[in-house]
Amino acid sequence: MKTETQAIHALNAAKNATGDVTMPISLSTTFLRAEDGGYPGGHMYSRVSNPNRSALESVLSALEFGDDSCAFSSGNTAGMAVFQALDPGSHIICPDDMYWGLKKQLQVLFAQTLTFDFIDLTDLEAVASYIKSNTAMVWAETPSNPLLKLTDITALAGICKKHQLKLVVDSTFASPILQNPILLGADITMHSSTKYLGGHSDVLGGSLTTAKKDAFWEKIKTVQQVGGAVPSPFDCFLLVRSIKTLAYRMNGHCNNALKLAQFLHAHPKIEDVFYPGLPHHPQHELAKNQMKDFGGMLSILVKDGEEAAKRLVNTVKLFTQATSLGGVESLIEHRASVEGPDTKTPRNLVRISVGLEHIDDLIADLNAAL
Ligand SMILES: *Cc1c(COP(=O)(O)O)cnc(C)c1O
Repeated sequence: MKTETQAIHALNAAKNATGDVTMPISLSTTFLRAEDGGYPGGHMYSRVSNPNRSALESVLSALEFGDDSCAFSSGNTAGMAVFQALDPGSHIICPDDMYWGLKKQLQVLFAQTLTFDFIDLTDLEAVASYIKSNTAMVWAETPSNPLLKLTDITALAGICKKHQLKLVVDSTFASPILQNPILLGADITMHSSTKYLGGHSDVLGGSLTTAKKDAFWEKIKTVQQVGGAVPSPFDCFLLVRSIKTLAYRMNGHCNNALKLAQFLHAHPKIEDVFYPGLPHHPQHELAKNQMKDFGGMLSILVKDGEEAAKRLVNTVKLFTQATSLGGVESLIEHRASVEGPDTKTPRNLVRISVGLEHIDDLIADLNAAL
């Protein structure tokens, strides 16, 4: 089946005992044992698994072409499970523009147990030169934040295979609709489902999907089950519901973002636009090959500097000044002040999550504010 169909039918909810057309929310924390000690319903205790989480995980596996998935309570706990599954003393290679919350997690929580280098993953020769005897994993993020840089997943997977390194790809900005890292050779695909998968800015979540159930994956599952960073049944219900419209939402996000990027690129008050769908983007060709469309995120440099950038986010009326992304409503933010004092993000950069409002209204709002 095609993705749009999988997103709606992967669960076959109507086949349950009461014939529910949508899956009910199962709040029970514990499940009945049979005489032989087994669990006839397939679940024992809700931290280990529960019906709503299993449903979400099976849809994620279908959409990301993986063998198994784990749903987490946030994107950051999904990342943390991967880092915790590595042997102490392991070295990992990460992008220099890694999602700042995960970069901070490594620096604050893993400084004693792991070593890491943050490098430019668009430079594959640099990646190879950083591999050491204790390197265990490359963590990639594409497209990246906030400059929308792309990493060539196929090429990177080749390097990782050669050196027997795990390749994990944070594919949050692309969603499972626009790119499937496992099909390009990655071992694990990660999402912050808080973003496009949820799509309505009302649920926090994260996910990992594996290409195969190997020993490393079993360790990740153990980390989740004994660590307990699991989403609630209601969170899982919301995500399963949102995923049914994901393909159509992504199509709308992409169409709006391209038009907005073209408008901004032509605007005299804008110094530059970072959007993989624009021909002047340094990896436009890679984007065309690796992604089905160019996504709903873009960043701009405002010509008159930081003050002008801050004035812009304060003047727009339709865009909400807030961090995060992937919701139906358009968001705008002055990125450097979100990331804190040690950020390398340009001071005049404004990041936009293009929502699903009518494009004419979005353009009119930005035009007036500029
Ligand atoms: C938001 C985000 C995360 C972290 O996810 P949370 O759900 O906020 O914990 C990780 N990676 C990327 C690319 C993100 O945008």
